Amino acid sequence: MCSPRPSGLCLLVRWLLPTILGLTWLASSPGSAGTGGSSEPLAHAYQLLRDYRAAEAEPLLQQILVEDPTCLAAHRELGLLYAHWYRYEEAEQHLTAFIEAAPDDPAVHYARGTVRFSLLDWDGALADFEAVAAAPRGEVQDSDLANSQRMIETIHGRSPGEAIEVRAADGRRVGVIRNGCSSRRGEQYAELLARCVEDVERFAGRPLPPVGLVLLSDSHEMDAWNEAYCGQASPGCAFHNYRIIVLNAHAANYDLPTEEASDAAREAILEHELVHHLIDTIAGPHSMPKWFHEGVADYLALPHGLRDPRTIMQSALAHGQTPYELVELFLLSRPEDMDRMFYRECAGLIAFIGTRSPDGDSWILRTLDARRKSDSFDAAFESVCGMSKEAAFQQWEKVVLRPLLAAPHP
Ligand SMILES: [Zn+2]
Repeated sequence: MCSPRPSGLCLLVRWLLPTILGLTWLASSPGSAGTGGSSEPLAHAYQLLRDYRAAEAEPLLQQILVEDPTCLAAHRELGLLYAHWYRYEEAEQHLTAFIEAAPDDPAVHYARGTVRFSLLDWDGALADFEAVAAAPRGEVQDSDLANSQRMIETIHGRSPGEAIEVRAADGRRVGVIRNGCSSRRGEQYAELLARCVEDVERFAGRPLPPVGLVLLSDSHEMDAWNEAYCGQASPGCAFHNYRIIVLNAHAANYDLPTEEASDAAREAILEHELVHHLIDTIAGPHSMPKWFHEGVADYLALPHGLRDPRTIMQSALAHGQTPYELVELFLLSRPEDMDRMFYRECAGLIAFIGTRSPDGDSWILRTLDARRKSDSFDAAFESVCGMSKEAAFQQWEKVVLRPLLAAPHP
């Protein structure tokens, strides 16, 4: 069904995890005190990590652990690597193996804290961040300390109590909800999350890692999260790298004329956030431009019948979400520079590219897969679409947008 779409859907928060990665590899050396061993394979693994050849370092580190399960350096580096790849369950195991034998390394506590936060183990995360805050000042990086203090402030006393496990039809755990709302609202979101995950996985053709959904009961709570992480007001946000979605379950955006319309808006927003999760899962740690991230999220959250590029642009213009002068501005600026105002226009661009692709919307998945293996988004895009993103943008402008703008204003 068609419903008025809330504006300002979400903010993608890019924060924290990049700061635990790379830096540690560069700072580490095979003979680091207390990490166990300085074998030749370990030295080789470090060199691979320093050369950004992590995919080759991983089996080597695993082999080192087969031969010596107590090699702490291998546990630490694998833990950091899996965190980087969003494989948080494995990351947690290796970082815990390290901490059990060497509990005084604040950098590893910090890494495990972020991983546990991603897994919605907030009590565990809090303990790790507190260990960082309590470490002697000379032993902890300033950024780790500042971020840990911010996490303590956010988690402490603000953790919704009820945890709801969400499972797919086959029994697989697909998410956990930390419910700060009524039980009824929690149940509604559990059903919604299961359905949206199924939709997104169907499109992806593969399972997604479990996602965490933090459900807040009012805008005051959401403001606290926004203040800590986004810096601007928003009814929801998806933590890039974190597999965590934070939603204000009572945002004004859901206050629509009918209950059906409100439910549809909730579903669209949740699906939008899950698509961000999908993009991060497939592309891995490689950054994606905002126009692609938001455009794909907005596009795939639309009902199938509304996914035509012209329909999308017509609806954007008809709802007055984007004044004509802003569309003009969008044309003049590069899509990467867009503001949140332009989500729908980017969805129109994504839809248009699909109409030019021989296998329709599959170009989205192929671009994500290509990006995982490529140093550049532009190169990945061009290899899949057979044209530059600038050329795609110009075609979309000429074929879809200009004719619509030339038509009489509604
Ligand atoms: Zn978004």
